[in-house]
Amino acid sequence: MGIVVVGTVAFDTVETPFGRGENVLGGSATYFSTSASFFSDVSLVAVVGEDFPEEHVSFLQSRNVDTAGLQRIPGKTFHWSGRYGYDLNEAQTLDTQLNVLMDFKPELPESYRDAEYLFLANIDPDLQMQVLEQVRKPKLVACDTMNFWISSKPEALKKVLQKVDIVVINEGEARQFTGEANLVKAARQIIALGCKRLVVKRGEYGVLMFTADSVFAAPAYPLEEVFDPTGAGDTFAGGFMGYLANTGDLSEEGLRQAIVFGSVMASFNVEDFSLNRMKRLQYSEIQARYSSFKALTNFRDISI
Ligand code: AMP
Repeated sequence: MGIVVVGTVAFDTVETPFGRGENVLGGSATYFSTSASFFSDVSLVAVVGEDFPEEHVSFLQSRNVDTAGLQRIPGKTFHWSGRYGYDLNEAQTLDTQLNVLMDFKPELPESYRDAEYLFLANIDPDLQMQVLEQVRKPKLVACDTMNFWISSKPEALKKVLQKVDIVVINEGEARQFTGEANLVKAARQIIALGCKRLVVKRGEYGVLMFTADSVFAAPAYPLEEVFDPTGAGDTFAGGFMGYLANTGDLSEEGLRQAIVFGSVMASFNVEDFSLNRMKRLQYSEIQARYSSFKALTNFRDISI
């Protein structure tokens, strides 16, 4: 079986210099699973409230996402409000309403427990740990988080980071978590916790992938139109994990290719609000942009 992901399925209210979306579909697990679904089977673990429209669930199902682990419980769906200025790299959180997330007890369907790939998307680290404990023998576990959880649950988060193979976080969050301004030193500290790799997302500056003794850099695709960066990180992670689950190739080369697939997926997501661009994305467009990506950074070997 493919990937199991736990994360938020949310209503977002987002303002960017180019427009505003109120109570639109969002959430770390929504973006992740939609993106990963272009490459692999995905099984979702999440919670929504009674106010969550069935059409959003149908959309995930139309992408072949297994929603057996999506609970609907009394109360309101998780809601995040954020704003971006002209520097689209950094979201300013205006409000976070956990709502049903506070009563969520993830219970994995039996069919999920033998998953080979597990992604602990941005959500309460205690919930990430509960899901991790229910998957029997994953081949690869990766996780994400954000400033909200770094500030409110640092100890629980540290325990999660010690148990995963790959940590995927924003550059600002790597600095916040370690208290280290230099990114290379911050990466070293996070890797020293026990994970094998750290993937640092740097918005329009691309991605860095660190191991204890190597670093790989990929740019972000230079786009003319960026409307809404919300979900770029989760969409990146979905492409990254989706590609790995598809090929099973966990070599350095395979991981580098996965970084580029992740970057390609994120580059599409920011072209429109919410998941609108992902809803009309075709696989042929992904292939074409992957080739443009390759051309972007291809240069001759040294010749003097
Ligand atoms: P990103 O990929 O970092 O832009 O993630 C954006 C998504 O994260 C939004 O759709 C939000 O619903 C979701 N989100 C915001 N705050 C949190 C939080 N504290 N925990 C989990 N998910 C969140």
